[in-house]
Order: sequence, then structure tokens, then C-alpha cells
Amino acid sequence: MSLSDPVKPHRICVCVRKRPLNKKELAKKEIDVVTIPGNGALLLHEPKQKVDLTKYLENQTFHFDYSFDEDATNDLVYRFTAKPLVKTIFEGGMATCFAYGQTGSGKTHTMGGDFSGKSQNSSKGIYALAAQDVFTLLRQKRYADMDLCPYVTFFEIYNGKVFDLLNKKAKLRVLEDEKQQVNVVGLYEVPVSSVDDVIKMIEKGSACRTSGQTFANASSSRSHAVLQVILRRRNFLHGKFSLVDLAGNERGTDVSNNDRHTIVETAEINRSLLALKIAMISPGMNSCEYTLNTLRYESVLPAFEAISQVSEMEERFYEELKVCSFLSSSVLCKHTCSEWVAL
Ligand code: ADP
Ligand code: MG
Repeated sequence: MSLSDPVKPHRICVCVRKRPLNKKELAKKEIDVVTIPGNGALLLHEPKQKVDLTKYLENQTFHFDYSFDEDATNDLVYRFTAKPLVKTIFEGGMATCFAYGQTGSGKTHTMGGDFSGKSQNSSKGIYALAAQDVFTLLRQKRYADMDLCPYVTFFEIYNGKVFDLLNKKAKLRVLEDEKQQVNVVGLYEVPVSSVDDVIKMIEKGSACRTSGQTFANASSSRSHAVLQVILRRRNFLHGKFSLVDLAGNERGTDVSNNDRHTIVETAEINRSLLALKIAMISPGMNSCEYTLNTLRYESVLPAFEAISQVSEMEERFYEELKVCSFLSSSVLCKHTCSEWVAL
């Protein structure tokens, strides 16, 4: 893969990551319909059928800031997406990086990493890699004298409600104060003094996110998870990095259990996500329709508009964002942000 050096983003940066076909897809001999030729391009081979029923693949190219193929590591993806944003929070800014895509496309793998021990290559995700750089910068001379204290929060937005993943999924209220600052009342803000501390919180929150579910990953695929790394200076907010693992962007049609609750959930997620007009893809041919839907959203709304439409509640969270990097597990898109505020 040929990648030039990452640049500090002047606008929303949208990238795409293709995950490898998994064992199940390989066993089913699924055709890989995604090729990453490099230079931010992604080639989708869409299966089509002629009138005489002959099948063929139609190629379409999509362009992103960066595109990562199935061999890319979390480390590489991090370097070109979230990493350039870490400095922002030291400079007193707000930064956001979010992963968007179909369930199973690799959002949690990318953001949270894999500490389960099940995978041979236990790897850090964007959460831990960002935390690592935060601690590296905290030790640098020019920041060491600033008296900055790092904290993390980890919460889930599910059906429009906020739950604290670091406090037994306590349901929290969101209030706006007189300065129009959004406060999640009672959200645990845990002081951290090392990357290991952060990893412990990621593990704790992730276990909390997936606990008590009848079907593996059932509700985590329908909720947004937000990890925030916060810098405080003499107790005042200095900078905040929000790392968001969004709910799956698929429609409810593949959900076999289409009961009322699921339909409400799906409507809520789609209300949140359709507005984003960005999407993620999986390489398998069976996911092609989703992939294509995702990729068609190439011409996206300016970032602020997109983020503010995630939902009314999230709009309040994201009002404050100045920088945003988009990260997806199979495909990455490209946005420009007219409202970019230089930090
Ligand atoms: P999502 O959060 O988008 O629903 P996951 O991150 O849970 O998807 O990924 C689904 C499965 O695919 C997991 O078992 C994960 O370990 C695996 N996976 C995802 N991306 C990759 C990748 N780039 N390389 C290897 N395995 C991956
Ligand atoms: Mg997930």
C-alpha cells in the first residue's frame, strides 16, 4: 500500500478500511468484491445480471482521504486518522474520531482493539493508541509544565438514552447549563495515570457494553459507544478527544427478530445515521448492497451538519467539536468542512 505521510487535518478527513473476509465468508466461498488499489481509492465490483441472465461484475471507483486494505493494522489506520488529532486537545481543542459501518465490518475491532486473547494478534485499537500518545505528549517538556490531568469517560447512547459504561450502565440525564455547555449528569470521569489504566477502563466498559445480552453483540450493534479522553487544567476543561464506535448502519431488514422494539431501535439508528451520508462496507458479495449504499454517500454534508444530525441529543454533544476524523472499517469517505475552525 502506498501512503504518504499523514497531515494534520484542515477539515474532516474520511477514510475507509476493508477487513479481510472471515472464516465463515471464506467457507461459503464468498467473492471479495472490494479492491483497495491505494491512494485513497476503493474499487467495488458490483455483481450484475444481463437480460440473458449472464452474470458479470461492474466496477466502480470511490475516493477517500486514505483507503486501507485487509492487511492494514490498527496501528497504521490510527497513524493516518486519529493520531494527527491528539495534539489538538493539548492545544485546548476538541477532536472527534468515529467509526461508521455495517455490523461486523470491524468498527469495534478498529476502535476498541482486541484484548480478548482469542485472537492470536492481540492488538490495541484507536482508543488505546490515542491514549498512548496522550501520555507520551504529557511527558514532553512543553506540555509537562502545563499541569494537565488526564481522565476518561466511557458511555453508550442507546435508543436516545445515555448509559455510563464505567458505572454499571447507570442511566444518565443530559442537561445544558446556562453557558449552553452540555453536561451528562453524574458521568464517571475516571482519573488515569497510564495507558494501562485506560486499557483497564476500555475492558471494563466494553464488558459492560456487551453484558446481559441474549444474542451476542445484539445491543452493542445498535448503540453508539463513546470513549472520551479529557484533559483538565486546574479542574477546568482544557481539551477533549471523543472516540466514537457508532451503531451499525444496516437497515432492519436483515434483523430476523423484527418485533416492535427492534423496529423502533432501527428507526432511531437510521434517523441517526442516514443523515450522516457516509457509510462502511464489508468485502463480501452478500454485503454488496450495503457497501454500495455506504459508498454512494460519497458526497456528504459538511461535517458539522452531518455530526449535528446524529440525533438531537448527540447534536448537543457534538456542537462543540472543531475537528473530526472519520474512520470506517471497510471503506473511508471524504468530506470537506466549510465551518472548520483552525485551532
Ligand atoms: P463491528 O463492531 O463493526 O460490528 P467487529 O469489530 O466486531 O465489527 O468485527 C467483527 C469481527 O471481524 C470480529 O471478530 C473482529 O475481530 C473481526 N475483524 C474486524 N476487522 C478485522 C480486521 N481488520 N482484521 C481481522 N479481523 C477483523
Ligand atoms: Mg461493534
